[in-house]
Amino acid sequence: MASALTDKLTRLVKQMRGQARITEANVQDMLREVRMALLEADVALPVVRDFIARVKEKAQGQEVLGSLKPGQALVGIVNRELVATMGAGVADINLAAQPPAVILMAGLQGAGKTTTTAKLAKHLVEKRKKKVLTVSGDVYRPAAIEQLKTVTQQAGAEWFPSTPEQKPLDIARAALDYAKKHYMDVLLVDTAGRLAIDEVLMQEIRDLHAALNPVETLFVVDAMQGQDAINTARAFKEALPLTGIVLTKLDGDARGGAALSVRQITGAPIKFAGVSERLDGLEVFDAERHAGRILG
Ligand code: GDP
Repeated sequence: MASALTDKLTRLVKQMRGQARITEANVQDMLREVRMALLEADVALPVVRDFIARVKEKAQGQEVLGSLKPGQALVGIVNRELVATMGAGVADINLAAQPPAVILMAGLQGAGKTTTTAKLAKHLVEKRKKKVLTVSGDVYRPAAIEQLKTVTQQAGAEWFPSTPEQKPLDIARAALDYAKKHYMDVLLVDTAGRLAIDEVLMQEIRDLHAALNPVETLFVVDAMQGQDAINTARAFKEALPLTGIVLTKLDGDARGGAALSVRQITGAPIKFAGVSERLDGLEVFDAERHAGRILG
């Protein structure tokens, strides 16, 4: 596997030429490069530390120390560890519930919740032939309710009206009732986000979770959020039993280290990646490919 990290490690190994074989001190130098690569990719520091500790254990065996190409051997270990950390879990949406299967969308404002709600609606309508209803509980931003209406129509799903005068819980209950009466397969609930973590907001989404009993509670997070993703992830994990992650804006420049941070902090599988503003810009998350991107 060719990567910027492989190049750096190869250079390091060249400097060691002349030695009979590489030593643990050399491995230490190489691990320092791995650490830098992860930090450059915006993996959060505590997550990097844990990750390096795991890699270190594996790197001290013969696979690296006894290898003719120790740099490549180490990148191999790093790559496998990245894939193992990011990749465990079920990829597709879980709908194994008495219909309507409720999917609750959580995340900060601007993370891409509304867009992702519509992308998922389109995915479920077109690929899984489901009858899908969407509803917005974002009573603080009337424009967000209108936005969901527009994108839901584009997605070929049905939209349930809500107004800023209503309480999010009442909206959710009314939508659930409607979905049951109209034999909907799926109810996608978009929620209010704030620019930063906010206790009132967290309580609101906890109440929504308790009332709706969703089969999926998806944490939507912007790949560009970088180091700070870890704090957001921690707050949402503490508030809600997350069942999956959607990593958005992977079409941007971000190296996507947020994936590793968020996966490690929440323990929830990364199910989808957002790769454009368009409603078809949703892909099943590919840990293998993403590991390559993180390594640069
Ligand atoms: P919300 O506040 O969490 O509901 O976020 P929105 O769904 O309104 O998205 C915020 C902005 O990010 C909008 O301009 C979206 O078009 C954009 N966006 C969402 N997902 C993606 C993505 O995967 N790629 C890109 N490039 N833009 C996205």
